[in-house]
Formats: sequence, structure tokens, C-alpha cells
Amino acid sequence: MLTDFLGKALGFDPHTISTPAFVVDERRIEKNLARLREVKERTGCHILLALKGFSMFSTFPLIRKSLDGTCASSVHEAMLGKETFGGEVHAFAAAFSKEDMESFLSITDHLVFNSFSLWERFKPMVLSAPRKISCGIRVNPERSVGRVAIYDPCAPGSRLGVRHKDFRPDMLEGIEGLHFHALCEQNSHELEIVLEGFVQHFGEFIPSMKWVNFGGGHHISRQDYDLEKLCRLITDFRKRFNNIPVYLEPGEAIALDTGFLVAEVLDIAGSGPDTHAILDSSATCHMPDVLEMPYRPQIIGAGEEGEKAHAYQLGGLSCLAGDNIGRYSFDAPLAVGDRLVFTDMAHYSMVKTNTFNGIPLPSIYRIDMEGKMHLERKFGYQDFKTRLG
Ligand SMILES: *Cc1c(COP(=O)(O)O)cnc(C)c1O
Repeated sequence: MLTDFLGKALGFDPHTISTPAFVVDERRIEKNLARLREVKERTGCHILLALKGFSMFSTFPLIRKSLDGTCASSVHEAMLGKETFGGEVHAFAAAFSKEDMESFLSITDHLVFNSFSLWERFKPMVLSAPRKISCGIRVNPERSVGRVAIYDPCAPGSRLGVRHKDFRPDMLEGIEGLHFHALCEQNSHELEIVLEGFVQHFGEFIPSMKWVNFGGGHHISRQDYDLEKLCRLITDFRKRFNNIPVYLEPGEAIALDTGFLVAEVLDIAGSGPDTHAILDSSATCHMPDVLEMPYRPQIIGAGEEGEKAHAYQLGGLSCLAGDNIGRYSFDAPLAVGDRLVFTDMAHYSMVKTNTFNGIPLPSIYRIDMEGKMHLERKFGYQDFKTRLG
């Protein structure tokens, strides 16, 4: 059914690959990179890839042509950034252990601390490290613009970033940068609000800094993103503060709409409104944000529940009663063996997969700039077993 038309629109034939699988298209990544390059060229800012949002390192030779480095949320991400991307490695986490710090000291170029107590504790280690590391403090601009509280670092009670009332100007010696991260899938209008809060609370400290990091969450590669405004905000900010270097560290903007999850229908069961199509994939294992965020993923050729003639509840392979992807409708009845193509699955879904129930991880395919398909990785029993002992 979904076939020829599908293959043409996608740039690959979903019937020729082994499922479940993520398929990431470098031609789509390059489109996003072109937007990011424009921001860099027009403002002189630096842009890092936030590894937590997208870590498919076989695409890094392409991405590193356009971006300046990576930002990590842990030692392991920092190691991956250093090993597979190159360029600058920045790291931030809500807290660091002494072991973390020992590793970071040989890997990272920038380290961002979430509190002055962390900074006080690790300052001697950082200053005596054999390499120069530029340290920053993450601040909380206290401008809540997030729609979903768990994704809003400025939500009341947030543990992320130092608030104005807790800021310690007396402890800034050795601190070279200020970092804020307050956005999630947002436009430059929201950045303007956050930036205003940042300057209001912390503006007096910027002249003594060597850099400012505007964090991630900038949805720069989305169609309706106001790029003009972003460029104006960065340019004005840099003008106002003596041309200070500005970093952005988006994750999602690099991989937005660049990848697919392809799944196969394994069974059609039930009847009437309880007709289920069970897939060889799973919401909880392969696209957990569908349940966590929650959101409804798009499927090529499918409509809303009542839109087309044949409706199904799409279900995952796991034993979780709530492992439902949603209710969708199709022009033709689904059949065992059909392939479904979920769109926009490269960011976050790929890094959050798990092997609950022993369900295999999706294979990883890469489509290169010439349109050629490469199988990067197929996972097996050992990938499941080695996590458990
Ligand atoms: C999550 C996060 C990012 C990346 O966010 P995106 O929404 O993927 O752009 C960057 N920096 C920090 C500190 C983050 O926590």
C-alpha cells in the first residue's frame, strides 16, 4: 500500500530495510546546518551541538564542517564529543562528582557550574589542571516562558541555574562566563524575554566576563522561526557588551525533521474502535517522549482518527498497558507486514531508547549527501545483556 509514493517522498524505500529502524538523512541535516551557518555568519556567534539531543556520531563529519564543537551533560557525552566530533567541548551538569571533575579536566574547554558551592569546591582542582579550562556559572534568568513545566528550567522551584538572590559577586574570581538555558522548542520572541531577564539580573557582571552562553532550546530550523530577530538580539547584545563572544548550544535544531522511525505491522487484533495494529516498535522503548511529553507523532500517509476510512489504535510490542502510540486512520486497511514511517524521530527519540522487555533497539541507517543508504548499526542480544551484568 503506502509504497511508491512513499519511497519518492522520503528519499528511500522503507521496505528495503530491517525494522525497527531509525533512518537519518544527512541532506536534511545539511538544510538545518545552512540556517545555523547563516546565524553564525551574520552575528559572529559560536554554535555547539548539544549531544543530549542528537548523538548519532556517523553524521558528525558533516556537522563539524558547520558548527564549533559540542556541549555535554556528562563525562560520557564529553568523551563522545572529543572523540567523534572534535572542536570545542563544553560541559554542564546539575552537579559534578570528584571523579567527573577529574575526567572533565582532560577533556573539556568550558565547564559550567550550577552553583557557587560547586565552584568553590572544585576551583582549586580546575586552577591546578594542566590545561586551561574556562569556567562559567549557570544563572537562572527567572523568566518562565516554557509551556510544559518539566521542560522549563525557569519554572518555580527549579534547581537549574543560580537565582539573582543567590548570586555571589564575591566569588567570581576565576569565572569567565555566564550561561543560561531557559528555552525548549521556542522562537526568538521567547529568547528576547529571557534575555531581558538575564540582563536585568546579571547585566552588571557581563563586562567582567569573556563569554556568554545563551543555552539551547532555540528552534532555529523550524519553518516559522524568526531568524531576523535572533540575529538582531545577538548582534545588539554583542554591541552593547563590547563585542563579547556569544555561544548557542542547540540540540534539536540540528536534527529537527531529519530522521524517521520505520516500524512493521506485526498483527491486527480486536474489532470496531478497539482495532489494534501492533508494531515491532514501542512508544516506551523507542519513542518515550510520546508518553513523557506527551505528543502525537506524525505518520506518513496517516490521518487523525476519523479522517480516513480505516482507523486503528497503534500499539507497541511491550507489556506496558499504556504502550499506545495513538489512534490513526488510513485510506486502505493495514495488513501484517506493512511498514509505517514515523516522522521527525532523529532528535531525543534516538538518545532515549531502552531495551525494556528485551525489545531490540532500532537499527540505525544513514542516508548520505548523495542519497546512498548506509546501515550504521544493527543491535542484538549482547546489547541487551551487557547492560544487565
Ligand atoms: C537540553 C539542553 C540543551 C539543548 O536543548 P535543545 O532543546 O535540544 O536545543 C542545551 N543546553 C543545555 C544546558 C540543555 O540542558
